[in-house]
Amino acid sequence: MTPSSSALPPSSIAERVTAVRARIDAACRAAGRDPGDVTLTAVSKTQPPEAIDAILGTGQRIFGENRVQEAQGRWTERRATSPDLELRLIGPLQTNKGEDAVDLFDVIETLDREKLARALAQAAEKRGRSPRVLVQVNTGAEPQKAGVLPDAADSLIVAARETYGLTVDGLMCIPPADQDAEPHFKMLRHLADRNGLSVLSMGMSGDYETAIRCGATHVRVGTALFGERNRP
Ligand SMILES: *Cc1c(COP(=O)(O)O)cnc(C)c1O
Repeated sequence: MTPSSSALPPSSIAERVTAVRARIDAACRAAGRDPGDVTLTAVSKTQPPEAIDAILGTGQRIFGENRVQEAQGRWTERRATSPDLELRLIGPLQTNKGEDAVDLFDVIETLDREKLARALAQAAEKRGRSPRVLVQVNTGAEPQKAGVLPDAADSLIVAARETYGLTVDGLMCIPPADQDAEPHFKMLRHLADRNGLSVLSMGMSGDYETAIRCGATHVRVGTALFGERNRP
């Protein structure tokens, strides 16, 4: 199956964007929150060019990608024609990709260790560009998952800010797939409040309304906008 053969038609993607935005607004109202306080990050990983063009046509400008190299291919040229894009790295980052990540992304959501904080600070200085960062917390303490353990989050936040001079805006988490997400979202909010952080990136296609109820400021939605992803 080629990627283009399974991409949804542009009209369908536009309808899905409208529907997701309406559900975000409704979830905000139900939670007594201002819809303007929740940002939709469209997760564009693995999507073919026609799907990207379709969603850009709806006015969506904030995108999440989980691999640096794939994102470079998808966004480097489009960035030149759409200077208002905001690109957010939501996948694990290796220290040797720090400079590429700093060049492309506006926000790096996956800071999870001090070594990476150091690499990002060095890359930012070298490239003259300083993306904002979120600290990814492994709220479920899953061994296979990226993210700092909850107990170590406070000290990583302090080190990122004070030792490495990074701009830490907030926190990000991906709850365990087989568990109720709500306690994880609440834990992330508690950690953010305790550290005076305002940005909470949490909630995906299956649980973004729950995340909004728990205080998400950024929801990362892929499948609900684009349909099922192709698995390479
Ligand atoms: C792929 C991905 C998403 C989007 O997931 P959907 O279930 O397709 O909405 C969100 N966050 C991260 C970190 C991802 O890797």
